[in-house]
Parts: sequence; structure tokens; C-alpha cells
Amino acid sequence: MDPVAVVNALNLTTPTGLLWARLAGCPVRSRGGYLEASGYRWRFPVAGAFTIGCVVISRSPLTDVVWEHEVSHMRQYAVLGPLFWPAYGVAAAWSWVRTGDWWSRNVFERRAGLRAGGYVERPLRRSGRPRRGGTGAGAAVA
Ligand SMILES: [Zn+2]
Repeated sequence: MDPVAVVNALNLTTPTGLLWARLAGCPVRSRGGYLEASGYRWRFPVAGAFTIGCVVISRSPLTDVVWEHEVSHMRQYAVLGPLFWPAYGVAAAWSWVRTGDWWSRNVFERRAGLRAGGYVERPLRRSGRPRRGGTGAGAAVA
């Protein structure tokens, strides 16, 4: 059996993903040794797809490229277990502060592949205020 599947079963993230999918009424099927649940309609989280343990929950069927992105998140769950959730929250907040979106500087999304996940990378926000006596070229971005 796949070690990621074993670890995520033991750390209870996959059972949590299965519970979430079942509560949301998404049929679950096997895909590549993991689990896919599509037809998700709840508003949270705001994403086309998300992964909980070894369960990928999506609004519509995923391409192979997006699937591989989500499989990368499964490996992250295998390392962090339930700590993935607060760690992801911190990484998303960091990205928001640095870029204005929750993925461009989010280490979890970057390591899973921004492009594969359908994300467009934003540049870093400029920090600080315009320099005193400056030309305005260094103005802060709102
Ligand atoms: Zn992702």
C-alpha cells in the first residue's frame, strides 16, 4: 500500500476528508490509488478543488495536471498531519501580506506547483512608503 495513503489514514486526515465529502454529498471514487470526490457545492472553501488527507474534493472532474497538484498536497499532509491546516493558514496569510493573494508566496502551493494548480503568480507588493523627497516611484501599493 502507498505510504502516503497509510500515513494519512493513521493521522486521520483521510477519514476527515471522507467525512467532509460524505457530508457534502459528493460521491467518492478511487483515482490513482487515492480518492476523488467531485460535485462539491458548498461555498467554503473558495476553490475549484481542495485536498484533505488523500481525498481530493472538487466542484468538477479534474485534469491530470490539477490532480497531480493535489497529490502533492497529500504528501504535505503525510508530513504534517492535522498540523497542515494551521500551517497552511499561516502560509496563506503570509502570501496575502506579501502579494495580495493567498497562493503566490504560499509555500504549500508553490511546492505543489502554482501553474499546475491553475494559479497565476503575483509579484511581491512593494513595501514601505514613498521615500521622503522621492519621485513617487516607490509608492506603496494599497
Ligand atoms: Zn494547491
